[in-house]
Amino acid sequence: MKRVAIIGSGLGGLVAGNLLAKKGHKVTIFESHSAPGGYTAGFWRQGYYFESGTFSLEYSDMVFSLMKKIGVFDKVEFVRQKSRLVSADFDGSPENYADLKKMFYDAYPAEKARLDKYFAEVDKMVGALEPFLLKSSIWAKLAGGVKMAGLYKKYQHMTMSRFIGQYFEKDSNLYRFWSRIVYPDTAALMVGGAIISFINDYWTVKGGMQSWADALTDNFRALGGELKLNTYIDKIITEKGKATGVAHGQEVWPVDEVIAACDYKETFLKLLDDQCLLPLAATDKIRKAAVSEGFMVVYLGLKMNNDELRKIMKLPHVTLFDEQPDCDIYNNCDEHFFEKNSIGLYSLSLLNPKLAPNGKSSLMLAAMASASWMDNWGGGDKQKYKELKERAKNDMIAKAENLIPGLRNLIEYEDAATPLTYERFTHNTGGATSAWSWNPEKRFYDNMMGNHVDTPVKNLYIGSCWAAEMGGVPGAIAAALKTVKRVGG
Ligand SMILES: Cc1cc2nc3c(=O)[nH]c(=O)nc-3n(C[C@H](O)[C@H](O)[C@H](O)COP(=O)(O)OP(=O)(O)OC[C@H]3O[C@@H](n4cnc5c(N)ncnc54)[C@H](O)[C@@H]3O)c2cc1C
Repeated sequence: MKRVAIIGSGLGGLVAGNLLAKKGHKVTIFESHSAPGGYTAGFWRQGYYFESGTFSLEYSDMVFSLMKKIGVFDKVEFVRQKSRLVSADFDGSPENYADLKKMFYDAYPAEKARLDKYFAEVDKMVGALEPFLLKSSIWAKLAGGVKMAGLYKKYQHMTMSRFIGQYFEKDSNLYRFWSRIVYPDTAALMVGGAIISFINDYWTVKGGMQSWADALTDNFRALGGELKLNTYIDKIITEKGKATGVAHGQEVWPVDEVIAACDYKETFLKLLDDQCLLPLAATDKIRKAAVSEGFMVVYLGLKMNNDELRKIMKLPHVTLFDEQPDCDIYNNCDEHFFEKNSIGLYSLSLLNPKLAPNGKSSLMLAAMASASWMDNWGGGDKQKYKELKERAKNDMIAKAENLIPGLRNLIEYEDAATPLTYERFTHNTGGATSAWSWNPEKRFYDNMMGNHVDTPVKNLYIGSCWAAEMGGVPGAIAAALKTVKRVGG
C-alpha cells in the first residue's frame, strides 16, 4: 500500500484515484475548486444548469468500458449527442459519413470535382480510423493500424489549412469550413478522426457533466479515498530528485507518489519546489510552449419553453457556421473578432428538461477564443475586462439571433466565461481547453500520439490530459491509466 497524492479532480484525477483506491492504496485527491470535476463539471444558477467545461465526449468504447470497470457506468446516463450544421449554404443533421458528404455535394454542385478529390483522400483516413472508434474485430483494427501508420507518416507534420488548401480555394466557404473543423491549424491527420467521432461517436451526459464527476467522486470515497476540496496545492516537495509530498500553505502531506492531474506548465514552473530538477532548456521549452485554444461561452436562461425552442433548433446542439473571411483567432487586436467567428449553440434543457425551471429553457453559446485577445482581455484592468467580456457576449447573442430571432428579449438569466475564467477556475494555462497546441508545427512532444506521463522527477507523474499533445477526455483517461500502472495498480 502506497500513499498517493493526486493534484486535481478532473477526469484524469478521478479515474486514477478510483483505480488506485480499488487496489488498496491510500489516495488523497486535492482540488482547489469547491466541487470536483475540472472540465467535466457544471453549475446551477437560478434553476438553470450549465456545463463549466466540455459538452461532449467521443471514444465511447474506451470510456464506457473503463466506467464499467470502475463501477459507475450504470450511475451516469450517457446519451448520444446529435448535431445540426447550419450555414448560408447548408442546413443538415448528417446521420453518417455518407450523409455528410451528400450534404456538401448538394450545397456545392459546382465544386463536385474538388469535393471528389478531397473526399477520396478523407475516405482513406475515415476508413483507417473507423475500426478503432467503432466496435470492430481485432483484424479490422490491425488492418486499420497498418493504413493509419502510412497516413500518420504523410500527415503528421501537415496543418489542416495546408491540407485543405490543396483542394479548395483559399477563403472559399468550403476552405473555411473544413480548415476549422477542429482547432485552427490542427494536424491534417485529425480530419478523419474528427469526422467519425462527430458523426458516429458523439456523446454527452443527460444529467450534465457534473453528475459524471459526482458518480466518480462517490465511488472513490466509498473505496476509502479522500477528496480535499478548496485545497490548492502550492508546492510539490522533493528530496534528492524524488517527489515526497505536497503542500498547501503550512500544511504538508508526505506521500510516496505524486500524480499531477493538472496543468503541465503550472506543475513545473510553479509547484515544483526545486527548479534545478529540470534542465534549463526544458524549463524554457515548457515556458514557451503553445497551448490549445480556449473558449468564450455565454450562459442563457430563457423565458421560452422547450417545445418552442425545439421548433427552431430542432436538436440540442447546432453549429452555426458563419465565419467571415477576415476572422483570425491569432489577430489579438481585432476588436470585432466575435462578430466574425462561428458559434455553437447547445441547449441542455432540450436534452433534459430537468436542467431548467418548468416552462423555461436554457442555451449555451460557445466560440473558440484566445486568452490573448485585446491585450489579454484588457491588460489586467478589471473595468476593461468587464467591457470586453460584455462586448463579446453581446456579439455572440447577436450572432445566435440569426437562428433564434428575438433571442435578446427572451433572456432572463445571462452570464459568460472567457478563457481567463476557465484559467481562474481550473489553472489550465490561458484556459487551454485540450492541453498543448494541436498545430503540428508548434508541437510540445516529438510523438504527437504518445502518452507522456513520466517526468524528470522520480515518483512524479503527469496524470492529466497534458500527458498527450492533444489532450481531451481520451488524453486524460489514457494518462490516468498509465500513471496507475506506474504507481502499481
Ligand atoms: C468548452 C470545452 C469543450 C471541450 N470539448 C471536448 C470534447 O468534445 N471532447 C473531448 O475529448 N474533450 C473536450 N474538452 C477537453 C476535456 O474536457 C479536457 O481535456 C479534459 O476533461 C481534461 O481533464 P483533466 O483531468 O486532464 O483536467 P481538468 O479537467 O482540467 O482538471 C484539472 C483539475 O485540477 C485542479 N487543479 C489544478 N491545479 C491545482 C492545484 N495546484 N491544486 C489543486 N487542484 C488543482 C483544477 O481545479 C481542475 O479541477 C473540452 C474542454 C472545454 C473547456
